[in-house]
Amino acid sequence: MPLRSAPSPRKRLLVHLSQAVETLSLRAAPDTFEMQLKNLEGNVKIQSFEVTDLEFAHFENVSNALIRLDQGTYGRCMVCGGRIHADVLSGTPWATRCLECGERESRPQST
Ligand SMILES: [Zn+2]
Repeated sequence: MPLRSAPSPRKRLLVHLSQAVETLSLRAAPDTFEMQLKNLEGNVKIQSFEVTDLEFAHFENVSNALIRLDQGTYGRCMVCGGRIHADVLSGTPWATRCLECGERESRPQST
């Protein structure tokens, strides 16, 4: 199996980034817009949603991963410095922790 068959992490991250930006710009629109009701007379004003923390965090995660690509630290665990497994990166291209450190973090502290 050729090593370069998968799309590069940068390409995939850019796709995620543009989706995140799209979500943010849709959500961040300050105006209300009017929606016509089909069976009733009149319009309803719908206030645009605010950007949720999760949506913003996702945007930050993706853009930070692109910065790490430029710095050459992409794919490295930010805790132990080890390599993040390719399976993890293919599922979560912006992952910052290897499996071990990710598990250790989600586990309750034993000390
Ligand atoms: Zn680690």
